[in-house]
Amino acid sequence: MELWIATGNKGKLSEYKLLLKEIIDLKVYSQGDISSFSPRPEDGKTFLENARIKAKTLRSIKNDVWVLGEDAGLEVEGLNNLPGIHSARYAGPKASDSENVAKLLKMMTLRPMQNRNAKFVCTTVVITPQGEEWIFTGEMKGKIASKPAGLHGFGYDPLFIPEGQTQTLAEIGDGFKTQHSHRSQALRAFLEKWRGM
Ligand code: IMP
Repeated sequence: MELWIATGNKGKLSEYKLLLKEIIDLKVYSQGDISSFSPRPEDGKTFLENARIKAKTLRSIKNDVWVLGEDAGLEVEGLNNLPGIHSARYAGPKASDSENVAKLLKMMTLRPMQNRNAKFVCTTVVITPQGEEWIFTGEMKGKIASKPAGLHGFGYDPLFIPEGQTQTLAEIGDGFKTQHSHRSQALRAFLEKWRGM
């Protein structure tokens, strides 16, 4: 079976490859394997709408394989759940991970904030080779650190301390995300349904 991941995010893709590496009868590809691929703007109003846009865009080119589109982001309670669907572009349309991290820290220090609770959320839209749509979600609770720490992962990992932990995801390393992340939960739910077919 071929599974095509609709992402251009290298951090995400390497997490998918790690999560799926044990499944021998599965070959993982991404939109980056299609040289002419051009992504559509993510102009949905929800994680689900954006995940569907990504999946459908790739499916319009690869229509006889499994396609997975995913939209994820960080919701910070004290910021009314921002950056949310704007997580990738929080500091601007072409913002880097470190610019987004700096913007989040700035927003949290603009006023003294007691509530640093946050969660990563992920919605995954899988389109089967027959064109059926499957939807899966996952979330991981935690809090925002006072300063970035660690070198693993991507995005806001250097600022996110998962519930029950004392270090950021970027300090803890890949193993924890493989077991507990929003992404791995949604992916496991997909694999369970796929295996049960
Ligand atoms: P997307 O590629 O449009 O889904 O953007 C997701 C953005 O949310 C990423 O660019 C990151 O900034 C953030 N994000 C999503 N998942 C994670 C994660 O697992 N760790 C850190 N940041 C994440």
